Amino acid sequence: MTDDSQTLRASYHTLGCKLNFSETSAVAMQLARRNVVKALPDEIPDIVVVNTCSVTEVADKKGRSLIRRLRNKWPDATLVVTGCYAQLKPQEVAAIEGVDMVLGNDEKLRISEFLEEWERDRRTRIAVHDFLDIKEFRGACERGDRTRYWLKVQDGCDYFCTYCTIPFARGRSRSGNIADLTEEARKAAAEGGREIVLTGVNVGCFGKDTGESFIDLLKSLDEVEGIDRYRISSIEPNLLTEEIVRWMAEESRAFMPSFHIPLQSGSDEVLRLMNRRYGTSLFADRISMIRDLIPDAFIGVDIIAGARGETQQEWERSFDFASSLPVSRYHVFPYSERPGTKALDIDGQVPQEEKHRRVSMLTALSDKKLRDFSRQYFNTARDVLWEHPDSAEDGVMHGHTDNYLHVCAKADASLYNTISPALLTGFHLGDPETLSAKIPNY
Ligand code: SF4
Repeated sequence: MTDDSQTLRASYHTLGCKLNFSETSAVAMQLARRNVVKALPDEIPDIVVVNTCSVTEVADKKGRSLIRRLRNKWPDATLVVTGCYAQLKPQEVAAIEGVDMVLGNDEKLRISEFLEEWERDRRTRIAVHDFLDIKEFRGACERGDRTRYWLKVQDGCDYFCTYCTIPFARGRSRSGNIADLTEEARKAAAEGGREIVLTGVNVGCFGKDTGESFIDLLKSLDEVEGIDRYRISSIEPNLLTEEIVRWMAEESRAFMPSFHIPLQSGSDEVLRLMNRRYGTSLFADRISMIRDLIPDAFIGVDIIAGARGETQQEWERSFDFASSLPVSRYHVFPYSERPGTKALDIDGQVPQEEKHRRVSMLTALSDKKLRDFSRQYFNTARDVLWEHPDSAEDGVMHGHTDNYLHVCAKADASLYNTISPALLTGFHLGDPETLSAKIPNY
C-alpha cells in the first residue's frame, strides 16, 4: 500500500444511514490517496471494507450475513469491518470467520494506518475506542453520483433516548466548523454538484461544542455559488426553531422546502418513557409553524410502532395524533429491543403480532398522507433536479422537485444534473412514491 508502483483494489460495502455512506466515501478517498483504487464490479479486490449499522437486531444480522458472503466470495482479500456494529460488539464481529480487522467508528477514518500495520504482521486487530473517548470530529462528504452530495456536519449524540444505542456507538455530540464545511461545499460545487444534504446523528446540536450556531452554518452554506439545493437530513423537533424555518422561508436562496423530523410516538406518556425532549404539543406547534411559513414543504416524519409501554390506550392516542398532523409521509419502524438500553427496564412489551398490526396501520396512514400531499400538485409545474442518467437509456429520467416529490419523465440524458420545470400529471403506474411528469419540448 505504501509503494506507489503497486496499485491495490478495494471494494466498499455500506449498511445503514446516510452518515455511514458519507463516511465510507471518506474512507475510499483516504485510501485513494494511498494508491488504493475502487475495484470495478468484475475485479477481485485486495481489500474489502464493510461499514456496518446496528440500529436494530435485524441490522446486526444483515451485517453478519454480508461479512460471511463477502468472505466466501473473496477468500484472499483483507477484510475490514467497521461502523456501529463493530463499535458496539467488536468481539462478536471479530469472531466471524475470516474477519481480519475490526475498527470502531473513531478508527474508521484512520484505516490507512491500520492497513499499514496489518501489512507488517498480518495479525488480526481489534481497534475500538470506548465511546466516552470518542471526541474528535472527522469530516466526510459523499460524492455519490455527483448530482447530490452528503456532507457530514455533526457526529454523536448527547440525548440518550432510552431505546437508542447510537450514543454508545458514536460517542458524544461534536461538530465540524463552518469555515471547513463551507469549503467542502465549494469543492462539491467545483466538481459539478448541485445539491447537498447535511447529515449527522443529531444535526440540530451542531455547534453546541464549538460555540458556532446551526443557523450561521446554514447562512454560510447558502452563499456558496453553484450549489442550488440544500436539505437537512433529519432534525429533532425541539431544535428546529422558528428562527431557522423563518429564515428558510424568507431569506434563504437554496434551502429547499423539505423537512425530516422524528416524532417516534404520538403519545406523551410513551415520549416520556423514551426520554424524548418534547411532547406532542411542541411537535404539533412545529408542524403548524412550518405549514404557515412554508405551505408547500414536504414533511417526512419518523415514528416507532410497538415501543415498550405503548399500551392499547397509548397506541390509540399515538395513532390519532399521527392522523391529525398535516405531514407528507411517515417512515414507520417497528420497535426493536436493543441489548444494553434502558428501555429494557420499561414494562409493557408489545407482542410481535400486535406490533406488526400497528406497523401496518401506520404504513397505510402514511400512504394516504403521501397521496393527499402529492395530489395537491397535480397539474402544477415544479422545478426538478434530474438525477439518474442510467435510466435514460429507456428514455426516462428521474428526479426530485424542490419540495421532495420523486418524479419521472420522458427525457434524455442531456438533462442530467440540470434543474428544469416539469408539469406533474399524476401517480406513476398508481405508485404513490413516484409522480409522472411532462417536460416542455419532450
Ligand atoms: S436523539 Fe435519541 S434517537 Fe436520536 S441518536 Fe440521539 S439518542 Fe438516538
